[in-house]
Amino acid sequence: MHKLPVYCFTLILMVACQPKTKEKFDLLIINASVIDIASGKVSPGKLIGINKDTIQELANMASADRYESDQIIDAKEKFVMPGLWDNHVHFRGGDSLINENKDLLPLFIAHGVTTVRDAGGDIAQSVLEWRNAIRVGKLEGPNIFTSGPKLDGTGAFWPGSIPIDKLEDIPPALDSLEDLKVDFVKIYASSLSPELYYRIIKECEKRGLKVTGHIPLSADHFAAVEFGLDGVEHLFSFLSLASPIGDSLRQLNLGFGMFPQILETYDEDHARESIAKLASEDFYVTPTLYVSQVIMQLDDLDLAVDTLLPLIGPGIQKTYERRLKQSQNRDYEGKQLMLDMDIRERSLVLPMFQAGITILAGSDCGPSNSYVYPGASLHSELALLVETGLTPQEALSTSVISGPKFFGLDEYYGAIEEGKVAHIIMLTENPLENIENIGSIDLVLKGDNIYDKSKLMALKTPMKTQ
Ligand SMILES: [Zn+2]
Repeated sequence: MHKLPVYCFTLILMVACQPKTKEKFDLLIINASVIDIASGKVSPGKLIGINKDTIQELANMASADRYESDQIIDAKEKFVMPGLWDNHVHFRGGDSLINENKDLLPLFIAHGVTTVRDAGGDIAQSVLEWRNAIRVGKLEGPNIFTSGPKLDGTGAFWPGSIPIDKLEDIPPALDSLEDLKVDFVKIYASSLSPELYYRIIKECEKRGLKVTGHIPLSADHFAAVEFGLDGVEHLFSFLSLASPIGDSLRQLNLGFGMFPQILETYDEDHARESIAKLASEDFYVTPTLYVSQVIMQLDDLDLAVDTLLPLIGPGIQKTYERRLKQSQNRDYEGKQLMLDMDIRERSLVLPMFQAGITILAGSDCGPSNSYVYPGASLHSELALLVETGLTPQEALSTSVISGPKFFGLDEYYGAIEEGKVAHIIMLTENPLENIENIGSIDLVLKGDNIYDKSKLMALKTPMKTQ
Protein backbone atom coordinates (compact mmCIF):
# COMPACT_ATOMS: atom_id res chain seq x y z
CA MET A 1 0.00 0.00 0.00
CA HIS A 2 1.24 3.44 -0.90
CA LYS A 3 1.97 5.62 2.13
CA LEU A 4 1.45 9.34 2.23
CA PRO A 5 4.42 11.21 3.65
CA VAL A 6 3.95 12.61 7.18
CA TYR A 7 4.09 16.28 6.08
CA CYS A 8 1.07 15.63 3.89
CA PHE A 9 -1.12 14.62 6.89
CA THR A 10 0.03 17.72 8.73
CA LEU A 11 -1.07 19.92 5.84
CA ILE A 12 -4.52 18.28 5.66
CA LEU A 13 -5.04 18.75 9.41
CA MET A 14 -4.04 22.41 9.24
CA VAL A 15 -6.58 23.12 6.49
CA ALA A 16 -9.36 21.20 8.27
CA CYS A 17 -8.83 22.92 11.61
CA GLN A 18 -8.55 26.47 10.30
CA PRO A 19 -11.59 28.52 11.40
CA LYS A 20 -13.50 29.45 8.24
CA THR A 21 -14.31 33.09 7.65
CA LYS A 22 -18.04 33.46 7.67
CA GLU A 23 -19.74 35.13 4.79
CA LYS A 24 -21.36 38.32 6.04
CA PHE A 25 -24.61 39.77 4.73
CA ASP A 26 -26.52 42.98 5.44
CA LEU A 27 -29.47 40.81 6.44
CA LEU A 28 -30.15 37.14 7.03
CA ILE A 29 -33.57 35.55 7.03
CA ILE A 30 -33.35 32.19 8.79
CA ASN A 31 -35.63 29.15 9.23
CA ALA A 32 -37.79 30.22 6.29
CA SER A 33 -40.24 28.03 4.40
CA VAL A 34 -39.63 29.40 0.92
CA ILE A 35 -42.51 29.26 -1.54
CA ASP A 36 -41.52 28.84 -5.17
CA ILE A 37 -44.50 30.32 -7.00
CA ALA A 38 -43.47 28.86 -10.38
CA SER A 39 -43.52 25.25 -9.19
CA GLY A 40 -45.82 25.54 -6.17
CA LYS A 41 -43.18 23.87 -4.00
CA VAL A 42 -42.47 24.87 -0.41
CA SER A 43 -38.90 24.36 0.83
CA PRO A 44 -38.62 24.53 4.62
CA GLY A 45 -35.45 25.22 6.60
CA LYS A 46 -33.97 27.85 4.30
CA LEU A 47 -31.61 30.72 4.90
CA ILE A 48 -31.69 33.83 2.72
CA GLY A 49 -28.68 36.16 2.62
CA ILE A 50 -29.38 39.69 1.40
CA ASN A 51 -27.04 42.55 0.52
CA LYS A 52 -28.62 45.93 -0.24
CA ASP A 53 -31.65 45.03 -2.35
CA THR A 54 -30.40 41.74 -3.81
CA ILE A 55 -30.81 38.15 -2.66
CA GLN A 56 -27.21 36.89 -2.63
CA GLU A 57 -27.60 33.48 -1.04
CA LEU A 58 -30.27 30.86 -0.67
CA ALA A 59 -28.99 28.01 1.46
CA ASN A 60 -30.13 25.24 3.79
CA MET A 61 -30.15 25.93 7.52
CA ALA A 62 -27.77 22.97 7.90
CA SER A 63 -25.03 25.27 6.62
CA ALA A 64 -26.17 28.28 8.63
CA ASP A 65 -22.87 28.52 10.52
CA ARG A 66 -21.16 29.63 7.33
CA TYR A 67 -23.05 32.93 7.34
CA GLU A 68 -23.42 35.88 9.63
CA SER A 69 -25.14 39.24 9.82
CA ASP A 70 -25.82 42.01 12.30
CA GLN A 71 -29.44 41.81 11.30
CA ILE A 72 -31.30 38.50 11.48
CA ILE A 73 -34.98 37.84 10.89
CA ASP A 74 -36.22 34.53 12.22
CA ALA A 75 -38.91 33.21 9.88
CA LYS A 76 -39.64 30.09 11.94
CA GLU A 77 -43.04 28.68 10.98
CA LYS A 78 -43.46 31.45 8.41
CA PHE A 79 -43.81 31.31 4.66
CA VAL A 80 -41.62 33.50 2.51
CA MET A 81 -42.41 34.52 -1.06
CA PRO A 82 -41.78 37.40 -3.49
CA GLY A 83 -43.65 40.69 -2.96
CA LEU A 84 -46.94 41.05 -4.84
CA TRP A 85 -47.43 42.98 -8.08
CA ASP A 86 -50.68 44.84 -8.74
CA ASN A 87 -50.65 45.15 -12.50
CA HIS A 88 -53.46 47.67 -12.91
CA VAL A 89 -53.76 50.66 -10.57
CA HIS A 90 -54.46 54.37 -10.99
CA PHE A 91 -53.25 57.61 -9.47
CA ARG A 92 -55.54 60.44 -10.57
CA GLY A 93 -58.16 63.01 -9.71
CA GLY A 94 -56.40 66.28 -10.54
CA ASP A 95 -53.73 68.39 -8.88
CA SER A 96 -55.78 68.97 -5.72
CA LEU A 97 -55.60 65.23 -5.00
CA ILE A 98 -51.87 64.74 -5.55
CA ASN A 99 -51.14 64.44 -1.82
CA GLU A 100 -54.04 62.09 -1.21
CA ASN A 101 -52.80 59.90 -4.06
CA LYS A 102 -49.32 59.94 -2.56
CA ASP A 103 -50.84 58.78 0.74
CA LEU A 104 -52.09 55.66 -1.05
CA LEU A 105 -48.52 54.41 -1.54
CA PRO A 106 -48.06 52.99 2.00
CA LEU A 107 -51.33 51.05 1.67
CA PHE A 108 -49.78 48.92 -1.07
CA ILE A 109 -46.81 48.09 1.13
CA ALA A 110 -49.11 47.35 4.08
CA HIS A 111 -50.68 44.60 1.97
CA GLY A 112 -47.45 43.18 0.60
CA VAL A 113 -47.71 44.88 -2.79
CA THR A 114 -44.14 45.88 -3.62
CA THR A 115 -44.70 46.81 -7.29
CA VAL A 116 -47.58 48.46 -9.16
CA ARG A 117 -48.27 49.09 -12.82
CA ASP A 118 -50.06 52.43 -13.10
CA ALA A 119 -52.48 52.37 -16.03
CA GLY A 120 -52.61 56.11 -16.49
CA GLY A 121 -54.13 59.25 -15.12
CA ASP A 122 -53.96 63.03 -14.95
CA ILE A 123 -51.15 63.56 -12.43
CA ALA A 124 -48.44 61.88 -14.50
CA GLN A 125 -45.70 64.33 -13.52
CA SER A 126 -46.15 63.52 -9.82
CA VAL A 127 -46.36 59.78 -10.44
CA LEU A 128 -43.13 59.94 -12.44
CA GLU A 129 -41.47 61.88 -9.60
CA TRP A 130 -42.63 59.25 -7.07
CA ARG A 131 -41.47 56.45 -9.36
CA ASN A 132 -38.00 57.95 -9.60
CA ALA A 133 -37.79 58.83 -5.89
CA ILE A 134 -38.85 55.30 -4.85
CA ARG A 135 -36.24 53.77 -7.18
CA VAL A 136 -33.43 55.61 -5.41
CA GLY A 137 -34.83 55.05 -1.92
CA LYS A 138 -35.92 58.67 -1.31
CA LEU A 139 -39.60 57.79 -0.96
CA GLU A 140 -41.26 54.74 0.57
CA GLY A 141 -43.77 52.93 -1.55
CA PRO A 142 -44.13 50.19 -4.12
CA ASN A 143 -41.98 50.30 -7.24
CA ILE A 144 -44.03 52.04 -9.91
CA PHE A 145 -44.22 51.35 -13.61
CA THR A 146 -46.37 54.00 -15.24
CA SER A 147 -47.93 54.71 -18.61
CA GLY A 148 -48.17 58.44 -17.86
CA PRO A 149 -51.15 60.04 -19.64
CA LYS A 150 -53.47 57.71 -21.53
CA LEU A 151 -54.04 58.03 -25.25
CA ASP A 152 -57.68 58.39 -26.30
CA GLY A 153 -59.77 59.76 -29.14
CA THR A 154 -61.61 63.06 -29.50
CA GLY A 155 -63.42 64.13 -26.33
CA ALA A 156 -61.37 61.76 -24.19
CA PHE A 157 -63.28 60.32 -21.25
CA TRP A 158 -60.56 60.70 -18.62
CA PRO A 159 -58.99 64.10 -17.90
CA GLY A 160 -55.30 64.34 -18.70
CA SER A 161 -55.50 61.97 -21.68
CA ILE A 162 -53.71 62.86 -24.91
CA PRO A 163 -56.32 63.14 -27.66
CA ILE A 164 -55.65 61.47 -31.00
CA ASP A 165 -57.97 62.97 -33.61
CA LYS A 166 -56.06 62.02 -36.74
CA LEU A 167 -53.12 59.91 -37.88
CA GLU A 168 -50.73 62.90 -37.73
CA ASP A 169 -51.39 63.25 -33.98
CA ILE A 170 -49.82 59.89 -33.22
CA PRO A 171 -46.07 60.55 -33.64
CA PRO A 172 -46.00 63.72 -31.47
CA ALA A 173 -48.15 61.99 -28.82
CA LEU A 174 -45.71 59.10 -28.61
CA ASP A 175 -42.77 61.54 -28.72
CA SER A 176 -44.18 63.26 -25.64
CA LEU A 177 -44.58 59.93 -23.81
CA GLU A 178 -41.02 58.96 -24.70
CA ASP A 179 -39.81 62.35 -23.44
CA LEU A 180 -41.57 61.64 -20.13
CA LYS A 181 -39.78 58.26 -20.02
CA VAL A 182 -42.96 56.33 -19.33
CA ASP A 183 -42.67 52.56 -18.93
CA PHE A 184 -45.41 51.63 -21.38
CA VAL A 185 -48.27 53.10 -23.39
CA LYS A 186 -51.91 52.83 -22.29
CA ILE A 187 -54.72 53.31 -24.79
CA TYR A 188 -58.18 54.11 -23.54
CA ALA A 189 -60.45 53.68 -26.49
CA SER A 190 -63.65 55.55 -25.62
CA SER A 191 -63.75 57.28 -29.01
CA LEU A 192 -60.86 55.97 -31.09
CA SER A 193 -61.61 54.62 -34.55
CA PRO A 194 -60.11 51.19 -35.31
CA GLU A 195 -57.90 52.86 -37.95
CA LEU A 196 -56.32 55.24 -35.41
CA TYR A 197 -56.14 52.50 -32.83
CA TYR A 198 -54.26 50.08 -35.09
CA ARG A 199 -51.89 52.84 -36.19
CA ILE A 200 -51.01 53.68 -32.56
CA ILE A 201 -50.18 50.02 -31.96
CA LYS A 202 -48.06 49.78 -35.12
CA GLU A 203 -46.20 52.98 -34.22
CA CYS A 204 -45.55 51.68 -30.66
CA GLU A 205 -44.30 48.42 -32.13
CA LYS A 206 -41.98 50.34 -34.44
CA ARG A 207 -40.57 52.33 -31.50
CA GLY A 208 -40.24 49.28 -29.23
CA LEU A 209 -42.81 50.61 -26.74
CA LYS A 210 -44.98 48.22 -24.77
CA VAL A 211 -48.63 49.02 -25.41
CA THR A 212 -51.73 47.87 -23.60
CA GLY A 213 -55.25 49.11 -23.08
CA HIS A 214 -58.87 48.78 -24.03
CA ILE A 215 -59.89 47.60 -27.49
CA PRO A 216 -62.44 49.82 -29.30
CA LEU A 217 -65.68 47.85 -29.47
CA SER A 218 -65.69 48.17 -33.25
CA ALA A 219 -62.08 46.95 -33.65
CA ASP A 220 -60.80 43.46 -34.32
CA HIS A 221 -58.88 41.72 -31.51
CA PHE A 222 -56.96 39.47 -33.85
CA ALA A 223 -55.75 42.40 -35.95
CA ALA A 224 -54.79 44.42 -32.86
CA VAL A 225 -52.78 41.61 -31.35
CA GLU A 226 -51.13 40.82 -34.68
CA PHE A 227 -50.09 44.47 -35.09
CA GLY A 228 -48.32 44.24 -31.73
CA LEU A 229 -50.79 45.00 -28.93
CA ASP A 230 -49.06 43.65 -25.81
CA GLY A 231 -52.01 43.60 -23.45
CA VAL A 232 -55.75 43.98 -23.07
CA GLU A 233 -57.16 45.55 -19.92
CA HIS A 234 -60.50 44.14 -18.67
CA LEU A 235 -62.50 41.34 -20.27
CA PHE A 236 -65.64 42.97 -21.66
CA SER A 237 -64.30 43.47 -25.18
CA PHE A 238 -63.63 39.72 -25.47
CA LEU A 239 -67.34 38.89 -25.13
CA SER A 240 -67.93 39.72 -28.80
CA LEU A 241 -65.47 36.95 -29.72
CA ALA A 242 -67.80 34.41 -28.14
CA SER A 243 -70.71 35.18 -30.44
CA PRO A 244 -71.00 33.88 -34.02
CA ILE A 245 -72.49 37.27 -34.95
CA GLY A 246 -69.85 39.21 -32.98
CA ASP A 247 -68.02 40.32 -36.13
CA SER A 248 -71.09 41.81 -37.76
CA LEU A 249 -72.25 43.45 -34.53
CA ARG A 250 -68.84 45.09 -34.08
CA GLN A 251 -69.05 46.54 -37.58
CA LEU A 252 -72.44 48.11 -36.79
CA ASN A 253 -70.60 50.32 -34.30
CA LEU A 254 -73.24 49.94 -31.59
CA GLY A 255 -70.80 50.44 -28.72
CA PHE A 256 -72.08 48.95 -25.48
CA GLY A 257 -75.48 48.60 -27.20
CA MET A 258 -74.21 45.40 -28.82
CA PHE A 259 -73.89 43.46 -25.58
CA PRO A 260 -77.52 42.28 -25.13
CA GLN A 261 -77.30 40.55 -28.52
CA ILE A 262 -73.81 39.27 -27.82
CA LEU A 263 -75.05 37.60 -24.65
CA GLU A 264 -78.13 36.15 -26.37
CA THR A 265 -75.93 34.52 -28.99
CA TYR A 266 -73.06 33.65 -26.66
CA ASP A 267 -71.55 30.32 -27.62
CA GLU A 268 -68.93 28.59 -25.47
CA ASP A 269 -67.42 26.62 -28.35
CA HIS A 270 -67.08 29.81 -30.35
CA ALA A 271 -65.40 31.45 -27.35
CA ARG A 272 -62.89 28.60 -27.07
CA GLU A 273 -62.08 28.73 -30.79
CA SER A 274 -61.44 32.48 -30.60
CA ILE A 275 -59.31 32.08 -27.49
CA ALA A 276 -57.24 29.34 -29.12
CA LYS A 277 -56.63 31.62 -32.11
CA LEU A 278 -55.65 34.55 -29.86
CA ALA A 279 -53.35 32.36 -27.79
CA SER A 280 -51.04 31.87 -30.75
CA GLU A 281 -49.88 35.47 -30.20
CA ASP A 282 -47.84 36.58 -27.20
CA PHE A 283 -49.94 39.00 -25.19
CA TYR A 284 -51.36 39.65 -21.73
CA VAL A 285 -54.88 39.99 -20.36
CA THR A 286 -55.70 41.79 -17.11
CA PRO A 287 -59.22 40.64 -16.12
CA THR A 288 -59.81 43.17 -13.24
CA LEU A 289 -62.61 41.04 -11.78
CA TYR A 290 -62.80 42.69 -8.38
CA VAL A 291 -63.58 46.21 -9.57
CA SER A 292 -66.52 44.83 -11.57
CA GLN A 293 -67.78 42.99 -8.51
CA VAL A 294 -67.61 46.09 -6.34
CA ILE A 295 -69.34 48.27 -8.96
CA MET A 296 -72.18 45.75 -9.21
CA GLN A 297 -72.64 45.75 -5.45
CA LEU A 298 -72.48 49.52 -4.89
CA ASP A 299 -76.15 49.69 -3.86
CA ASP A 300 -75.67 47.08 -1.16
CA LEU A 301 -72.41 48.20 0.43
CA ASP A 302 -72.43 48.51 4.20
CA LEU A 303 -69.94 51.30 4.79
CA ALA A 304 -70.40 51.07 8.57
CA VAL A 305 -68.34 47.88 8.57
CA ASP A 306 -65.79 49.18 6.07
CA THR A 307 -62.50 49.45 7.96
CA LEU A 308 -60.51 50.60 4.94
CA LEU A 309 -62.57 53.63 3.91
CA PRO A 310 -61.16 55.80 6.76
CA LEU A 311 -57.71 55.26 5.20
CA ILE A 312 -58.79 57.09 2.06
CA GLY A 313 -58.64 60.89 1.90
CA PRO A 314 -61.89 62.89 1.65
CA GLY A 315 -61.08 64.22 -1.81
CA ILE A 316 -60.65 60.71 -3.19
CA GLN A 317 -63.78 59.58 -1.38
CA LYS A 318 -65.64 62.34 -3.23
CA THR A 319 -64.55 60.82 -6.56
CA TYR A 320 -66.51 57.70 -5.58
CA GLU A 321 -69.80 59.56 -6.05
CA ARG A 322 -69.88 59.31 -9.87
CA ARG A 323 -70.11 55.53 -9.92
CA LEU A 324 -72.52 55.57 -6.96
CA LYS A 325 -74.89 57.87 -8.86
CA GLN A 326 -74.52 55.77 -12.01
CA SER A 327 -75.47 52.72 -10.02
CA GLN A 328 -78.51 54.40 -8.44
CA ASN A 329 -79.71 55.52 -11.87
CA ARG A 330 -79.28 52.10 -13.49
CA ASP A 331 -82.58 50.36 -14.17
CA TYR A 332 -83.29 46.69 -13.62
CA GLU A 333 -82.36 45.70 -17.19
CA GLY A 334 -79.11 47.62 -16.94
CA LYS A 335 -78.19 45.86 -13.72
CA GLN A 336 -79.12 42.49 -15.13
CA LEU A 337 -77.00 43.11 -18.21
CA MET A 338 -73.99 43.92 -16.01
CA LEU A 339 -74.50 40.75 -13.99
CA ASP A 340 -74.81 38.61 -17.12
CA MET A 341 -71.73 40.20 -18.68
CA ASP A 342 -69.79 39.60 -15.50
CA ILE A 343 -70.69 35.89 -15.36
CA ARG A 344 -69.59 35.43 -18.97
CA GLU A 345 -66.42 37.47 -18.48
CA ARG A 346 -65.40 35.35 -15.52
CA SER A 347 -65.98 32.19 -17.53
CA LEU A 348 -63.31 33.34 -20.01
CA VAL A 349 -60.44 33.42 -17.52
CA LEU A 350 -59.74 29.71 -17.13
CA PRO A 351 -59.97 28.86 -20.86
CA MET A 352 -57.65 31.81 -21.60
CA PHE A 353 -55.17 30.68 -18.96
CA GLN A 354 -55.30 27.06 -20.14
CA ALA A 355 -54.84 28.13 -23.76
CA GLY A 356 -51.61 29.89 -22.78
CA ILE A 357 -52.68 33.54 -22.70
CA THR A 358 -50.76 35.21 -19.89
CA ILE A 359 -53.13 36.56 -17.25
CA LEU A 360 -52.11 39.54 -15.11
CA ALA A 361 -53.58 40.15 -11.67
CA GLY A 362 -54.66 43.78 -11.48
CA SER A 363 -57.17 45.47 -9.19
CA ASP A 364 -57.96 48.75 -11.00
CA CYS A 365 -57.78 50.43 -7.59
CA GLY A 366 -57.51 54.18 -7.24
CA PRO A 367 -59.59 57.35 -7.26
CA SER A 368 -62.92 57.14 -9.14
CA ASN A 369 -63.06 53.36 -8.80
CA SER A 370 -65.24 53.46 -5.72
CA TYR A 371 -64.22 51.39 -2.69
CA VAL A 372 -61.50 49.52 -4.57
CA TYR A 373 -58.67 50.13 -2.14
CA PRO A 374 -54.92 49.92 -2.81
CA GLY A 375 -53.40 46.68 -1.61
CA ALA A 376 -56.46 44.96 -0.19
CA SER A 377 -58.13 44.93 -3.61
CA LEU A 378 -55.24 42.91 -5.09
CA HIS A 379 -55.85 40.24 -2.42
CA SER A 380 -59.51 40.19 -3.49
CA GLU A 381 -58.54 39.98 -7.15
CA LEU A 382 -56.37 36.93 -6.43
CA ALA A 383 -59.28 35.29 -4.57
CA LEU A 384 -61.59 35.93 -7.54
CA LEU A 385 -59.05 34.47 -9.96
CA VAL A 386 -59.15 31.32 -7.82
CA GLU A 387 -62.97 31.39 -7.99
CA THR A 388 -62.73 31.29 -11.80
CA GLY A 389 -60.81 28.00 -11.54
CA LEU A 390 -57.14 28.89 -11.21
CA THR A 391 -55.28 27.21 -8.37
CA PRO A 392 -53.89 29.54 -5.66
CA GLN A 393 -50.42 28.92 -7.10
CA GLU A 394 -51.56 29.88 -10.60
CA ALA A 395 -53.36 32.98 -9.27
CA LEU A 396 -50.21 34.08 -7.41
CA SER A 397 -48.16 33.57 -10.56
CA THR A 398 -50.38 36.08 -12.41
CA SER A 399 -49.18 38.67 -9.90
CA VAL A 400 -45.56 37.92 -9.04
CA ILE A 401 -44.36 36.11 -12.18
CA SER A 402 -46.44 37.51 -15.04
CA GLY A 403 -46.11 41.10 -13.74
CA PRO A 404 -42.33 41.26 -14.20
CA LYS A 405 -42.57 39.17 -17.38
CA PHE A 406 -44.67 41.90 -19.03
CA PHE A 407 -41.72 44.26 -18.70
CA GLY A 408 -39.11 41.60 -19.58
CA LEU A 409 -37.85 41.68 -15.98
CA ASP A 410 -38.37 38.03 -15.03
CA GLU A 411 -34.63 37.71 -14.54
CA TYR A 412 -34.85 40.03 -11.52
CA TYR A 413 -38.23 39.29 -9.94
CA GLY A 414 -40.71 36.48 -9.38
CA ALA A 415 -38.80 34.14 -7.07
CA ILE A 416 -36.71 33.87 -3.92
CA GLU A 417 -33.49 33.02 -5.71
CA GLU A 418 -29.91 34.21 -5.79
CA GLY A 419 -29.62 37.31 -7.95
CA LYS A 420 -33.25 38.39 -7.62
CA VAL A 421 -34.39 41.68 -6.12
CA ALA A 422 -35.11 41.40 -2.39
CA HIS A 423 -38.80 42.26 -2.40
CA ILE A 424 -40.06 39.68 0.04
CA ILE A 425 -43.19 39.05 2.06
CA MET A 426 -43.48 36.77 5.07
CA LEU A 427 -46.79 35.09 5.88
CA THR A 428 -48.01 33.16 8.89
CA GLU A 429 -50.23 30.90 6.75
CA ASN A 430 -49.58 29.14 3.45
CA PRO A 431 -51.32 30.94 0.54
CA LEU A 432 -50.93 27.86 -1.69
CA GLU A 433 -53.38 26.01 0.56
CA ASN A 434 -55.90 28.84 0.68
CA ILE A 435 -55.56 32.08 -1.27
CA GLU A 436 -57.18 33.99 1.61
CA ASN A 437 -53.94 33.32 3.51
CA ILE A 438 -52.31 36.04 1.41
CA GLY A 439 -53.82 38.34 4.05
CA SER A 440 -51.66 36.80 6.81
CA ILE A 441 -48.72 39.13 6.12
CA ASP A 442 -46.33 39.32 9.03
CA LEU A 443 -43.45 41.20 7.45
CA VAL A 444 -42.62 43.01 4.22
CA LEU A 445 -39.08 43.53 3.06
CA LYS A 446 -38.39 45.96 0.27
CA GLY A 447 -34.69 46.52 -0.20
CA ASP A 448 -33.43 48.43 2.84
CA ASN A 449 -36.89 48.82 4.33
CA ILE A 450 -38.11 46.21 6.76
CA TYR A 451 -41.75 46.50 7.74
CA ASP A 452 -42.49 44.28 10.71
CA LYS A 453 -45.96 43.75 12.10
CA SER A 454 -46.05 47.03 14.05
CA LYS A 455 -44.70 49.06 11.12
CA LEU A 456 -47.26 47.47 8.82
CA MET A 457 -49.99 48.47 11.25
CA ALA A 458 -48.63 52.03 11.34
CA LEU A 459 -48.93 52.23 7.55
CA LYS A 460 -52.65 51.74 7.98
CA THR A 461 -53.06 54.89 10.08
CA PRO A 462 -56.17 56.73 8.88
CA MET A 463 -56.19 60.15 7.22
CA LYS A 464 -52.54 61.08 7.31
CA THR A 465 -52.83 64.11 5.04
CA GLN A 466 -55.60 65.84 6.96
ZN1 LIG B 1 -58.20 51.14 -15.03
